[in-house]
Amino acid sequence: MSVQHTGVVIVGGGIVGASAALALRGLGHAVVLLERDLCGSRSSGVNYGGVRRQGRLPIQLPLAQRAHQIWAELPQRLGMDGEYRRSGHFKIARSAADMAQLVSYAELSRDFDLGLQLLSAAQVRARCSWLGGVAVGGSLCPEDGQANPRLVSPAFARAAARAGATVLEHHPVHEVQHDGQLFHVRAGQALQLRAPVLLNTAGAWAGALAAAFGEPVPMHSGHPAMAVSEPLPAFLPWSLGVEGGGIYCRQTPSGQVVMGGGQGLALDGQRTRVQAPTLTHLLQQAVALLPPLRHAQILRTWSGTEGYLPDRQPVLGPSSTTPGLFHGFGFAGAGFQIGPAAGEVLAELVHTGHSSTPIAPFSIQRFARDGAPPVSTP
Ligand SMILES: Cc1cc2nc3c(=O)[nH]c(=O)nc-3n(C[C@H](O)[C@H](O)[C@H](O)COP(=O)(O)OP(=O)(O)OC[C@H]3O[C@@H](n4cnc5c(N)ncnc54)[C@H](O)[C@@H]3O)c2cc1C
Repeated sequence: MSVQHTGVVIVGGGIVGASAALALRGLGHAVVLLERDLCGSRSSGVNYGGVRRQGRLPIQLPLAQRAHQIWAELPQRLGMDGEYRRSGHFKIARSAADMAQLVSYAELSRDFDLGLQLLSAAQVRARCSWLGGVAVGGSLCPEDGQANPRLVSPAFARAAARAGATVLEHHPVHEVQHDGQLFHVRAGQALQLRAPVLLNTAGAWAGALAAAFGEPVPMHSGHPAMAVSEPLPAFLPWSLGVEGGGIYCRQTPSGQVVMGGGQGLALDGQRTRVQAPTLTHLLQQAVALLPPLRHAQILRTWSGTEGYLPDRQPVLGPSSTTPGLFHGFGFAGAGFQIGPAAGEVLAELVHTGHSSTPIAPFSIQRFARDGAPPVSTP
């Protein structure tokens, strides 16, 4: 069996790992990206497609702003637009307390120039003839938007390959060891790699690799429930969210309405499904929110597997135990938008040892400090 040497091995070809591969090639590094299935086939390719900054805590907004710039440049970077549109993201308030939260968020995020517009109940009524009678107001972020994850996420891996990265799909990583200088990686049927740098971007499955290097994290999996309708005449200009959660909806360029809310079910470590009670609840909310959906057929439902840490923030940065190891996982239902920036940050860390975007709150050491239980449940 031959042993190959490279500069950086990346475990996981989601949007984070693939973006890192692309950025590393831009900085001249030799890269091998190892993906167990198909690149972008997991969380990154099955998500709702919301590309929003609104609602993120200020500690995530520097990353989100960096990603916002990358999203604007998709055609140059990927050779396609991925159906990315800055359609606006509108968050609805259904009570005075919810509206107060939106007002407070606008204040909290003021330094980040999100361009939030707070709408009164009368303004919502005037602008949203398609909305059910539930809103007492809302907050519009005109430059947030939506994209097609099925197109965008694999395209990052293809762009990395075109830029010279070796992208190996159907190559599960079975074992990684570190000899003090090099990582020894065993993957696929018979691949043996040696590299001084390893990126752990294995999504909801990244906990096992972190634990193998003495950094267990209390990550658990979530499975957001999704559904899509038949094509309808265009009526919904924005991607919609609701303050306090519950449901989110957007209409694609072909007229289909994609909606999410509630949790699906894991059949095993790989497969997920949406059950009837969750779907019924989701559709009841969808019709109340958007009456034009009343007679629509639902074409498909699905879910995915996503990693959540207790503070709902990702792990992004260097390992605290092993030189050359960098983590980027646990993006908790919101990593599609910031994924491309997280990938760039990982590449920067490899190249210079520093990130030009603040990432201190995302250190893996916060779990060691908190004395969190050493549990990892992929
Ligand atoms: C249903 C759903 C809806 C969502 N909606 C949104 C949204 O609207 N907006 C938003 O911003 N975010 C959303 N998210 C979250 C977002 O999709 C994720 O945070 C993001 O895609 C995470 O990317 P990733 O690269 O970290 O993980 P993934 O896309 O899961 O990629 C990790 C990859 O690692 C591979 N892997 C794992 N173990 C190994 C191994 N041993 N060897 C090789 N490969 C391995 C996996 O096969 C996988 O492809 C949603 C998530 C879900 C599930």
